[in-house]
Amino acid sequence: MTTTETTPETLLTSVDPATGEVIATYTVDDEEAVRAAVAKARAAAGTWGALSYGERRKYLQRWESQLVADSEAFCTLIHRENGKPLDDAFLELMLALEHIAWAAKNAKKVLGSKRVSPGALMSNFSARLEYRPLGVVGVIGPWNYPVYTPNGSIGYALAAGNTVVFKPSEYSTGIGNFLVEAFKKANPELPEGVFETVNGYGATGAALVRSGVDKIAFTGSTATGKRIMAAAAETLTPVLLECGGKDAVIVAGDADVKAAADAVAWGATANSGQTCAGVERVYVDRSVREEFVAEVKRILTEVKPGSGAGAHYGPMTMPSQIDIVRRHIEDALKKGGTAVLGGPESVKGPFIEPVVLVDVDEDSEAVAEETFGPTVTIKTVDGIDEAVELANKSKYGLSSAVYSKKSGLEIARRLRVGATSVNSVLAFAAIPGLPFGGVGDSGIGRIHGEPGLREFARPHSIAMQRFAIPGMALLSYSRSESTMNLLRKMVPFLHGRHK
Ligand code: NAD
Repeated sequence: MTTTETTPETLLTSVDPATGEVIATYTVDDEEAVRAAVAKARAAAGTWGALSYGERRKYLQRWESQLVADSEAFCTLIHRENGKPLDDAFLELMLALEHIAWAAKNAKKVLGSKRVSPGALMSNFSARLEYRPLGVVGVIGPWNYPVYTPNGSIGYALAAGNTVVFKPSEYSTGIGNFLVEAFKKANPELPEGVFETVNGYGATGAALVRSGVDKIAFTGSTATGKRIMAAAAETLTPVLLECGGKDAVIVAGDADVKAAADAVAWGATANSGQTCAGVERVYVDRSVREEFVAEVKRILTEVKPGSGAGAHYGPMTMPSQIDIVRRHIEDALKKGGTAVLGGPESVKGPFIEPVVLVDVDEDSEAVAEETFGPTVTIKTVDGIDEAVELANKSKYGLSSAVYSKKSGLEIARRLRVGATSVNSVLAFAAIPGLPFGGVGDSGIGRIHGEPGLREFARPHSIAMQRFAIPGMALLSYSRSESTMNLLRKMVPFLHGRHK
């Protein structure tokens, strides 16, 4: 069964991953169509960029309200095209709205004109730091959180005054287009081109990278991220890359074991495990291992995938991922791991039941590579040092979680990642003021929060001479010998007194 088919390459058919039923067919945008969309966005960039922060906030808030008004239809579409349960679709929409609202509200504070101290030697100047929009931002999105994830870029880029051309994943084309239609419906007086989509597969995304946009904000796999960065280098187009993860949870000896097990069970399997910052690995202290493993198993025994009302999570959205998940489970078992819940037989077509693997070799694919399925590996460690060392060994460094009653913050500070939840999982992603993004193979740059707004703006420094100081013309051939003598006295006073 496939979720997306080409008939031929000029068309993209979106289908329900649970049933194979056709939802809609879209025309694939080729290079010329992508360039036309970018030209439209370029034409609108002047108008949108010249609005005040307050005006842009009003348009973004109207978009929020439109999405709320249309939320039932939108969540039904998310459920059908992506497979996730309706409640999860609603939670995703709610989180995306929180981010759009935060970006709209805080853009002025973060990017508005600010005075900077000119320093003693330039005290006859006033100095200002201002931010300008980049122009047109190309956003390339994934399918796993097709509303929340791209809005970490779209909402923030728009709030910073850029126009946006969005290429949704080929597995969430309808959802991406719904977002844009809602924006247009909410703001009919805006010119065409403030927020547009281009539809298609990787080739359409590649055309967007080559189209002359002022920045590419990509969310997806590390392999594609590397390809995009290489292509963007040709035109020195800056990139923001939000890529994969292999997030670890550390369960210390003093953890609330039941709470940790509850969070790990959910964090590993929610959204069928198709979460970039989902729980993939656990390092649990030997003193609490038995209780922890038993509790995770007890909870997940009751958790079932499906597409009906009672399902905890849905099908795998992308058919090719099913084989990867099966391969990781098999590799874990071949390399000495044990399945305490499920196994290769848990892979049932597009639905994969929860799989809990213990004592898996750290070099097996199930520990080293992103599985992106409802599976989790649990390894016993002797103390926090070992847990931190193993957690940090991954080539990925997206996020992490720590369970400890006394030392959560201390352990969190030792982790080589972009974000950590202490005594919870994934909490950082729901706090709009906190930046999100990774190190290593997890990507470059940050979405969300203040850094997330600055990603989509160009700092512009302005130094303005308020008055001339006679004889103190440093930046002029009229500089006098007495000025230099004065400076020779001042510099040791300013910088030469530190012992
Ligand atoms: P993917 O890399 O296959 O595709 C992502 C997007 O890139 C799609 O829109 C696709 O059409 C496009 N694309 C493919 N080839 C391209 C090319 N050569 N040039 C330009 N665009 C191209 O990823 P996916 O399967 O859609 O998403 C899953 C991945 O995304 C996982 O690795 C997951 O961890 C990651 N992810 C990361 C975050 C984050 O914030 N760090 C969030 C969600 C998902």
